[in-house]
Amino acid sequence: MTSTAVVIGAGLAGARVAQRLGAEGPEGTQGAHGLDTVLIGEEEHAPYNRVLLAEVLAGRYGADVIALPKPPGTTTLRARAVRIDRAERRVHCDDGTVVPYGTLILATGSNPVLPPLRGLFAPGARELPGGVHAFRTMDDCLALSEAVSPGTRVVVIGGGLLGVSAARALAGRGAQVVLTQQAERLMERQLDPASSELVRAHLTGLGVEVHTECRVRGVGVTGGAVRSVELADGYSLDTDLTVLACGVRPRTGLALAAGLDVRKGIVVDDRLRTCDPHIRAIGDCAEHAGRVYGLATPALEQADALADDLLGRAAAPYTGSRMLTRLTLTGPGAGPGSGPGPGSGSGPGPLDLAAFGDPEPHPDDDVIQLADATRGTYRKVVVRGDRLSAASCSATSPRWARSPAPGRRTTRCRRRQPPAPPARLRRRPLTCRTRTTHRPRGPHTTAPPSCSSATAWSASASWRPPSSAVSRRATGSWCSARSRAPPTTACS
Ligand SMILES: Cc1cc2nc3c(=O)[nH]c(=O)nc-3n(C[C@H](O)[C@H](O)[C@H](O)COP(=O)(O)OP(=O)(O)OC[C@H]3O[C@@H](n4cnc5c(N)ncnc54)[C@H](O)[C@@H]3O)c2cc1C
Repeated sequence: MTSTAVVIGAGLAGARVAQRLGAEGPEGTQGAHGLDTVLIGEEEHAPYNRVLLAEVLAGRYGADVIALPKPPGTTTLRARAVRIDRAERRVHCDDGTVVPYGTLILATGSNPVLPPLRGLFAPGARELPGGVHAFRTMDDCLALSEAVSPGTRVVVIGGGLLGVSAARALAGRGAQVVLTQQAERLMERQLDPASSELVRAHLTGLGVEVHTECRVRGVGVTGGAVRSVELADGYSLDTDLTVLACGVRPRTGLALAAGLDVRKGIVVDDRLRTCDPHIRAIGDCAEHAGRVYGLATPALEQADALADDLLGRAAAPYTGSRMLTRLTLTGPGAGPGSGPGPGSGSGPGPLDLAAFGDPEPHPDDDVIQLADATRGTYRKVVVRGDRLSAASCSATSPRWARSPAPGRRTTRCRRRQPPAPPARLRRRPLTCRTRTTHRPRGPHTTAPPSCSSATAWSASASWRPPSSAVSRRATGSWCSARSRAPPTTACS
């Protein structure tokens, strides 16, 4: 047995590294027990797969289904770490527990960004008003779940990965959902305009009212709860429930107070070491080579790389993660627990989507697009120099990879020409129609001149974490072409 490894944060990265350290003996020790490991987590729930929270919110899975396996040989403490004493190598917790460490692993994840909206916080208040929730933890998910029922008016603020998943899940529960996105398209950090349009069309088919280029300015609070969302152009949306999905920020307070090097995240080297060699950092809170990933796969890869290093099994240093965005939006009626919404059994078919790299090509890039409007498939690869730098694939059926559609249309375009401006691309959708009106039109909209119309609300869909099948496919075909590491994207 070697000195104790203490992990702060029982999320995906923390639970994974504890699992590995607790289960595996150090290299060269036959049949040894794992490292003596302590896992400190502040959440009330046993460690769970955060990526699947939207499935819980959609009613597809119970909370217990997404629990992670209990790490063997690990002491689990339910407490918040409040101070690191680097001189004494001890962690102090809010319940008075003091835990000595040989190696300390920071896996503190991210905090949701709370946007500076007028009226969101009363002067001096630190708590959010009623009726408004972030979407980060199991508690957030259960609170939202309890508050939503068929017909509940919901405004989701933020059209990134989180906002899209929240909107889809809540629409599946029969809520009247309006999704507001400040950027010109949904998931703009991960998706190119055509793929983004597919996501938009899918959500619209589920009854979600999507508004891009739509900035929220403030919220109206009545009786201690948010009852309206005010848009910058003067429109106002009545709401029962508001979801803040405005991005995340690495949780670095503990590291900062301990005097560790923190920029965007806790700075680590290729062995995931902070500036203190006894302290490592992994997952959303870590910044490696200038990048904070904010995604599950890099968090797990860093946890594995660190476990290998601590167990003496590392064949090579950690050099960064390739980022693949994988999104599966299944149609109504799929999977257990689906179909609670009023439109169960109708609505759009499944949408399967994968993308990596910078969604905006550079002027010198080769862009190859393949689209089939009839079958709803879209594929694009971007080649920079002699390397594949980005790709995006989507289809309304998971069979796309095996059976290319007949009658497809191939476009090879823009060698050494600037990319078309986004607005033009939006007017020429490849596989779906774009709604041109950006003004709120739902039943709970009020505008400077009055404005209302009925919207049909539909049933459920599902979003899964990256499946091994598609990851393998991506690695085997796209990524084998010596692709450069793609630029940072973040989960927002
Ligand atoms: C709804 C949702 C959907 C997502 N979907 C996807 C997706 O499809 N694909 C994808 O790649 N990523 C997705 N993500 C992002 C992904 O979940 C994160 O990148 C991943 O969870 C990061 O793992 P982590 O262990 O670094 O942080 P976390 O999972 O956030 O875990 C950090 C843990 O540390 C605890 N903690 C923090 N400070 C302390 C302290 N001082 N004391 C004790 N405990 C502490 C926190 O409470 C938390 O439990 C999603 C995130 C959410 C919220």
